[in-house]
Amino acid sequence: IVEFRGVWKRFGALEVLKDINLAVGRGEVVVIIGPSGAGKSTLCRTINRLEIIDEGSILVDGKPQPVEGKELYKFRAGIGMVFQSFNLFSHKSILDNVTLAPRKILGQDKARARDNAYRLLDMVGIRSKADAMPAQLSGGQRQRAAIARALAMDPKVILFDEPTSALDPESTQEVLATMQQLAGQGTTMIVVTHEMSFARSCADRVVFMADGAIIETAGPEAFFTEPESERARSFLASVR
Ligand code: ATP
Ligand code: MG
Repeated sequence: IVEFRGVWKRFGALEVLKDINLAVGRGEVVVIIGPSGAGKSTLCRTINRLEIIDEGSILVDGKPQPVEGKELYKFRAGIGMVFQSFNLFSHKSILDNVTLAPRKILGQDKARARDNAYRLLDMVGIRSKADAMPAQLSGGQRQRAAIARALAMDPKVILFDEPTSALDPESTQEVLATMQQLAGQGTTMIVVTHEMSFARSCADRVVFMADGAIIETAGPEAFFTEPESERARSFLASVR
């Protein structure tokens, strides 16, 4: 559903993505790991054109990304994103956060957007917080609200960029449990994380990046038990 073909991205002289080739199928959970500065966030951001690539192409649903205007806006709305922080509109209630885009962009009426939001908030375990403001939630609850908000747009794929790295251990577990549940429901997910246990238990494939390149791609079992590259071996040794 997302396909990178020979993608290069540079910031000035710095090559941040080097000949990325990667295809993510519908319902697949791909976990991207690698050291700081490897280009993981940049790779995520190129998918919805928050970063513009220099060479190659990225197909979403078999089609090239729209370049600008209303088409790009609609395209972005079909790709969920959950970042480390800054996910919610702080001056709006959790319910409003979840219903806003479906109403504005998908044209859902108030009742439908609200019913769907309650269903999703229930699913992520924070229905009782619907009328609260983001500041009144714990970090883990906020991230689960952000996940509900992404899901409300019925996205083709959801990108997670280190969604738990700003959270305490308990909140981290809550968010990982929600992500595991989504993975089990066949949601297409691209996940950048340092949580190796999540990668091991939920990934269909692990992509290991370093210095802007994909060094290796493997099933989680194979990757964690016998990584092929020396780079991956030393990375795994450092995070264990
Ligand atoms: P981390 O694990 O620390 O989040 P990452 O793998 O997500 O790292 P990126 O954020 O994608 O890495 O950054 C890759 C490289 O690109 C880094 O060297 C970074 O300094 C550089 N970079 C990222 N964004 C920009 C930018 N807007 N301008 C210039 N350089 C950038
Ligand atoms: Mg990053």
